[in-house]
Amino acid sequence: MGDCVFCKIVSGGIPSKKVFEDEMILVFHDINPAAPVHVLCVPKIHMESINELNISNIGYVSRIFEKMPEIVKSLGISEGYRVVSNVGEDGRQSVGHLHFHILGGRKLGFMG
Ligand code: 5GP
Ligand code: ZN
Repeated sequence: MGDCVFCKIVSGGIPSKKVFEDEMILVFHDINPAAPVHVLCVPKIHMESINELNISNIGYVSRIFEKMPEIVKSLGISEGYRVVSNVGEDGRQSVGHLHFHILGGRKLGFMG
């Protein structure tokens, strides 16, 4: 957690292009976008992945999805987009702080 990139972005130690922020979550543009619109939604507390979710921290995920309709609208992609959360090595997770990618802005390819 001490050298977690997304914790540093949350605390302001690493700058980011913010899209949305409240007391629980932060949404910012991916530094290496895989689509014309590519943002990351993160909880403001450190948790590794979906595998750490439980009754006491699920509120952070609820908040991300509660705000998603207005976030995608503000990004101009509400007509179509994809939400992805990579988990672990096989899932090709490269940052060990739970995040949901939102991808859009073009016709996306198929999964896998
Ligand atoms: P993952 O591979 O873990 O699902 O996704 C991590 C994402 O974080 C990648 O798409 C990568 O481009 C992005 N990323 C890694 N470091 C930074 C950073 O310092 N700033 C921003 N904005 N995005 C980052
Ligand atoms: Zn973290």
